[in-house]
Amino acid sequence: MGLLTGKRALVSGVANSKSIALGIAQAFHEQGARVALTCIQSTQRRVAKLAADLGPALVIACDVTKDDDIARAFAEVGEAFDGKLDVLVHSIAYARLEDMNGEFLNVTREGWNLALDVSAYSLVAMARGARPLMKAAGGGSIMALTYMGSDRVTPGYNIMGVAKAALECAVRYLAYDLGPDGIRVNALSSGPIPTVSAMVVEGVEEALKTTVTHSPMLRPITPRDVGNAAVLYAVDLSRAMTGATVYIDGGMRMLAAGARPHPRAGKPAAERP
Ligand code: NAD
Repeated sequence: MGLLTGKRALVSGVANSKSIALGIAQAFHEQGARVALTCIQSTQRRVAKLAADLGPALVIACDVTKDDDIARAFAEVGEAFDGKLDVLVHSIAYARLEDMNGEFLNVTREGWNLALDVSAYSLVAMARGARPLMKAAGGGSIMALTYMGSDRVTPGYNIMGVAKAALECAVRYLAYDLGPDGIRVNALSSGPIPTVSAMVVEGVEEALKTTVTHSPMLRPITPRDVGNAAVLYAVDLSRAMTGATVYIDGGMRMLAAGARPHPRAGKPAAERP
C-alpha cells in the first residue's frame, strides 16, 4: 500500500523529462495514486511517452489562457476518475524573456498581463474546475509551484516575481474559500532546478551553484524532492495544513544575504555525519 493508494491526482505542467511536474507525477504514481496530466498541445505526444511509465496516465492538452480548454480538461478528468479528484498540482508559468531581463521598470502592460494570466490567474481558474470534483471526493489538496523571487528581489526574475507574489496570495484566498469544502491549498516554493524554463532565467547558474555550496543540505534540489514534498501535502495526514508557502530549498531561504559558503561544502558526504 502506498501513501496515496486510492487517490486521484491531476498534475499540470509536464513539458519534458526535466519538468518539476514529472517528478511530482512520478512520486504520486510511486505512492499508488492514479495520475492524469495536462500539458500544452505542442508537447502532447512527448508527454504521452513520458506518461507511459505512470501506469497508464491520461494526458490532456490544456492551454490555461483558454477557459474552454480548462473546462474540457476537468470534464475529461471527471470522466476518467468517476467524477472525483483528490489532488491538483499547478506547475505552470510563463513570461516573455524581455520582461524578465533588464530593468523591471520597463515591463509592458501586455507582458505583465500575459505573465500574470498564465502564471497566477490560471490557478484560480483551475481551482474552480477542481472544486466540484474534490467536493465529490470529500475534500482535496491543491498545490501551486512558486519561487522565492516572489518576496525577495531576484534580478533576472522580474515580472515572474510579481506573478509568483500574486500566485502565493491567490493560494491564501483560495484556501479561505475552499477550506469549508475540505479542500486545502498550499504553495510549494522550490529551490532552483535546471529545467527548460529555469535555464533561460539570468543568474540561475549562480543560484544552482549556491544551493550546493551554501545550503545546509549541500546538494542540489531535484524534481523528485519537490514530488516527495507534494506527497506530504497530498496525504490526509496534512489535512490541517492550508494557506501556507512551504520551502523545498535545502534551507537556502533562512540564510542571510551575503552568507559565506558552508564550511563543510565540498567535503564528501561520509565526512558529514
Ligand atoms: P517547465 O518548463 O518544465 O514547466 C513549465 C510548464 O508551464 C511547461 O509544462 C509549459 O508547457 C507550461 N505552460 C506555459 N504556458 C502555458 C499555458 N499557456 N498553458 C498551459 N501550460 C503552460 O519548468 P519547471 O521549472 O518545471 O516549472 C514548473 C513550475 O515550477 C513553474 O510554476 C515554475 O515557476 C516553478 N518553479 C520552478 C523552479 C525552477 O528552478 N525550475 C523553481 C521554483 C518554482
